[in-house]
Amino acid sequence: MNHTATIALAGNPNSGKTTLFNAITGARQHVGNYPGITVERKEGSLNLNDTRVNIVDLPGCYSLSAFSQEELVARKVLVDERPDIVVDIVDATKLERHLYLAIQFFELGIPVMLTLNMMDEANKKGLRIDTEKLSTLLKCPVVETVARSGEGKQELLEKALHYAADRGGVWEPLEISYGADLDTALNAMVEKIEAARFMTNRYPARWVALKYLESDDEIVTAGRSIGSVAFELEEMVSEVDTHCRTTLNTTPEALIADYRYGLINSILRQDIIERPQQVDRRELTDKLDNVLTNRLFGPLIMFGVLYAMFQITFTLGEIPMGWFESFFGWLGNTATALIPDGMLQSLIVSGVIDGVGGVMGFVPLIAIMFLMIAFLEDSGYMARVAYMLDRVLRMFGLHGCSAMPFIISGGIMGGCAVPGVMATRTLRSPKEKLATLITAPFMPCGAKLPVFLLLIAAFFSENEAQIMFSITLGAWAMALLVSKLLRSTIIKGEPTPFVMELPPYRLPTLRGVLIHTWERVWQYIRKAGTVILAVSILLWAAMTFPQLPENQVNAFNQQRIAVATNVMDMEQRSTQLEKIDNQEAQATLRYSVAGQIGSFFEPVSQWAGFDWRTNIALVGGFAAKEVIVSTFGTAYSLGEIDPEEAAPLSHQIATDPSWNKYTAISLIIFVLLYAPCFVTVVTMAKESSWGWAVFSTVFNTALGFGLAVAVYQVGTRLLT
Ligand code: GDP
Ligand code: MG
Repeated sequence: MNHTATIALAGNPNSGKTTLFNAITGARQHVGNYPGITVERKEGSLNLNDTRVNIVDLPGCYSLSAFSQEELVARKVLVDERPDIVVDIVDATKLERHLYLAIQFFELGIPVMLTLNMMDEANKKGLRIDTEKLSTLLKCPVVETVARSGEGKQELLEKALHYAADRGGVWEPLEISYGADLDTALNAMVEKIEAARFMTNRYPARWVALKYLESDDEIVTAGRSIGSVAFELEEMVSEVDTHCRTTLNTTPEALIADYRYGLINSILRQDIIERPQQVDRRELTDKLDNVLTNRLFGPLIMFGVLYAMFQITFTLGEIPMGWFESFFGWLGNTATALIPDGMLQSLIVSGVIDGVGGVMGFVPLIAIMFLMIAFLEDSGYMARVAYMLDRVLRMFGLHGCSAMPFIISGGIMGGCAVPGVMATRTLRSPKEKLATLITAPFMPCGAKLPVFLLLIAAFFSENEAQIMFSITLGAWAMALLVSKLLRSTIIKGEPTPFVMELPPYRLPTLRGVLIHTWERVWQYIRKAGTVILAVSILLWAAMTFPQLPENQVNAFNQQRIAVATNVMDMEQRSTQLEKIDNQEAQATLRYSVAGQIGSFFEPVSQWAGFDWRTNIALVGGFAAKEVIVSTFGTAYSLGEIDPEEAAPLSHQIATDPSWNKYTAISLIIFVLLYAPCFVTVVTMAKESSWGWAVFSTVFNTALGFGLAVAVYQVGTRLLT
């Protein structure tokens, strides 16, 4: 004998395990009890080619939770004895329910293969199962057997040994996404577990975290004797638990089960099983899915829903937007009146109020958007969107699992590329992950929205929703085209099959939707109050210092005196003085550090129609995209002398002679595509490497600029 291999037979009770075990081992078996308990332990062995094969019959179980002794024993054998391969015996006539256990083996990471037993029964019932496709989707061997007659057992053994040798004992845990709420907690817990090496000698970190979320007695008890990390984990779990109860009216445990069944559902939906014609009672979810993910109506409904979202947002958002604008206008005027002229006034009014106000002004719109997104997410429809997009994504070298990172990054409206890039973890193929990660920042994230909204308000106020919708479609088109380009050049490789979770539909609770909306709005506000405020003040300083040299200030004063003494008509005098004020403000801004940086880039950036002031905003935007609007706010308010007459920013831009429609379109394109913000770049580096993070910064900027120049040149030369 050259080798030995251990095969563990596992499966739900009554799946035919014992029958199969007997068929394989014949008389060569011995039966005992697991130490200390009355659960039977059966073992047998045989020789196959030059391998000595030991076979362990695990106790039958429905899952790998700590619900019964059988389940605990099965789990213990797997982690302590680490068999070379688990053969999961599945009743082919009850595929959906029996795959639940298989999913947990995948999550544990142990090498596992399936055998569809009771194939004789399945055939009698007229079920057709596409075993090959199932094997592709699950990425493990699948064989068919009839344990009672021993049919298929030889193939089973050969494939098992072959696959065990292939995997070489390496555990590869499957990462399932459990929805935004749980994933956030899971990731945080995994970080803690890995840092403390908490139980990681026995289990994968994510598995431990999942067991904590499932309130697994055994793990939780064992954890307490290990160290203080256990209590931190329990604390985190209790937070998530409360969160799930209040927002979704369910427990983490139930959510986890939902998503696991969702995963099974999405696999089986891909024409794995062909049932004979018969009227079986379908669940509400299935009925809804028949319409909502129908090949023809599904995409139509999807576009309808998304378009309606844009319309509702702009129609409803207009009124509160006005209130916010007036409020910040009033605040600026009050501050100007209260604080004496000078540096401090400029800092408070131009740096803080106009900067942060420009960003805060969009809170109502963003709140309405998030409200609708929260509704779609909580109802389960968002997962269907990803499911439907899979077919399209595949054509461009991406994967159905890329849809979630895209959507999270703002693919529907107003996301954030940071969690978006993190969500690419669910992609198992490194190449598809890379393509997703580089293109996800193209999506119109919540920080880019204010820029678009500002420009739309200034130049396209007639068709707000249509333009926003086109920007979103444009972002998708670019993401798809660029990933196609990348996937057929520098990151070539085969596509991997689609496996994603389709949770059941549920009616979102009002409370849940409101809480989810508030979480995101608050995140936005907090960012405006911290990062944006800091960058805004920094940029204000860069736009204020160094101050104009005295001789130039004197020159402007000379001009004023000249006007005051020579022009007698009061009206003419005040317009001329105002003109001088504006010229001085412009000169001051241009002389500042920021102005000089902006001017430095101007010779190149003007090809796309960007003047030096836009350049300042775009450089600031690298820190955080919201800063683009706040910088415009500061730049135009520094140029504006009389705050009593300060018009809304969009109006100022619309009437500025250096702006036109094509400048606006070109800027929209550039902002959409150019370098991801700094935090995203760091996240990308963590998820891939600094090389790719830098690549995407340079590549995306070059691409954005190229397109912006093309649009601007064509627009201004040919169309006007
Ligand atoms: P266990 O609980 O998983 O050990 O299942 P058993 O091996 O005890 O089998 C449960 C029942 O299913 C027994 O009555 C078996 O005879 C029957 N059975 C097992 N495999 C097959 C099969 O492939 N086809 C059919 N028709 N019956 C089977
Ligand atoms: Mg049995």
